[in-house]
Amino acid sequence: MATLRPLEVGLMFWGDQDPLKMIQAVKSLGLRCGHLGFTAAVDFTGLAEVYSKALEDEDFTVTAVFAAYDGESYADIPTVLNTVGFIPEATRTARELRTYEVIDMTAAIGVDIFACHIGFVPEDHTDPVYAPVRDMVRRICDYAAVRGITFALETGQEPAETLLHFLEDVARPNLKLNFDPANLILYGTSEPISALKLVGKHVVSVHCKDGNWPDKNVAGSLGTEMPLGEGSVGMANFVNTLKEIGYTGALTIEREVSLDQDMDDRHQAKLSHVDDIMKAVQLLETLRG
Ligand code: MG
Repeated sequence: MATLRPLEVGLMFWGDQDPLKMIQAVKSLGLRCGHLGFTAAVDFTGLAEVYSKALEDEDFTVTAVFAAYDGESYADIPTVLNTVGFIPEATRTARELRTYEVIDMTAAIGVDIFACHIGFVPEDHTDPVYAPVRDMVRRICDYAAVRGITFALETGQEPAETLLHFLEDVARPNLKLNFDPANLILYGTSEPISALKLVGKHVVSVHCKDGNWPDKNVAGSLGTEMPLGEGSVGMANFVNTLKEIGYTGALTIEREVSLDQDMDDRHQAKLSHVDDIMKAVQLLETLRG
């Protein structure tokens, strides 16, 4: 895998297609690293060998592996609550088992950060969901720790203070954060820069993503993802704050919007998608200095 510079720019991509082609597609944007996401549809049989070879041949570094789970939907806030991460009880056991598979895959391809959305962590510790989810996170941390892996929670669905209390209560040294500034805006949670300052020492990776706040007149609505630099995050402030807190990991662009385009628009969407990722790369290269 490539040796990376501090604040090296990367891209989040999904491992549902041919590994070599996906890695070459990311490299064609001039990038040497990325986050690799696995949906529930990915069968890991024999896949670690294929990935390890492709990463070595292409001199490409995966800086974190992400899991998405069967049945998750990000349509609006109530749907996220009912479908995402470890919160829904009906899918909790199956998702725990899948998490162990993804952590095994993470270790097998030589990556040391595993991450996912665990869903909205309740602020109230007496909420019936709280203790089972905390205990599940402890088990996952312990499973990851013996494999040399850090478990990074994707941020955005709860305020920084709630996250800090949760980290403290789980009390596992390998539980950290993947900080996604846009999510804090999209979920209407809190202003991202002050949140980053609060949780900074726990941040081991980031998503460079932008967005605008939800429409206050539509209850339960999510905000709108925007091309990097065109939303409400304030990318210069975000990157400067990362420098201030001493973060030296990758700046990994996450651009999700084209995944939701209609089939008819797909060709055009892909073109504009690449175009705005290229602009994002240029913006981050300037800001990282
Ligand atoms: Mg993210």
